[in-house]
Amino acid sequence: MIQLRDVKKQYGSIAALQNITLTINKGDIHGIIGTSGVGKSTLLRLINLLEVPTEGSVFVNNLELTALKPQTLREARKSIGMIFQHFNLVANYTVYKNVEVALELANVPKNERKLRVEECLQFVGLEQYKHTYPANLSGGQKQRVAIARALATEPSVLLCDEPTSALDPSMTEEILSVLESINKQLGVTIVIVSHEMRVIKSICNRVTVLD
Ligand code: ADP
Ligand code: MG
Repeated sequence: MIQLRDVKKQYGSIAALQNITLTINKGDIHGIIGTSGVGKSTLLRLINLLEVPTEGSVFVNNLELTALKPQTLREARKSIGMIFQHFNLVANYTVYKNVEVALELANVPKNERKLRVEECLQFVGLEQYKHTYPANLSGGQKQRVAIARALATEPSVLLCDEPTSALDPSMTEEILSVLESINKQLGVTIVIVSHEMRVIKSICNRVTVLD
């Protein structure tokens, strides 16, 4: 379902990644582990083309993203959600609005947005927090809002960049169990980058070690 073929990413004179050929199977929870600076975030961002490879090609759901025009790429990206270590919520938006924004950007009409936002908040167990602002949430709750936002457009793939690295152990468990239920109940393929072997061991069924 996801394939990188002979991918290289160069930043100026630094080769951040080279000779990357990788297949990620549909339905997997696929871990990517490696030391700091090895290129894990770059690799993840190549999958949704937030970073454009210097060489090589990227396929997601049998579409060659590296060959698409901007308009078609925008469309294809709706099937790829992403979450980050520091959640990246909008501080002056409520929980509800933080999720709704994903639907606005995807041009979903207002009358369809409400039901979808509520479904997503319910899935992550935060429906009673919809009027709350991010500053009043715990780290685990913030990450659950980010997950709800990523799920809003019904992606088939969820990319997770160090999703638990800013969280304490109990919140880490909470997030890993939400990710597992997204995989099991919604059938979403998950790619999770981490430098913590414990995280990878606990939920991944396949692992890539980046060297
Ligand atoms: P990791 O996530 O494994 O810590 P990154 O993918 O963030 O690693 O970075 C890999 C390498 O690429 C590092 O040497 C980093 O300094 C470099 N790098 C990452 N992003 C950029 C960028 N936008 N410009 C220049 N160098 C970058
Ligand atoms: Mg990183």
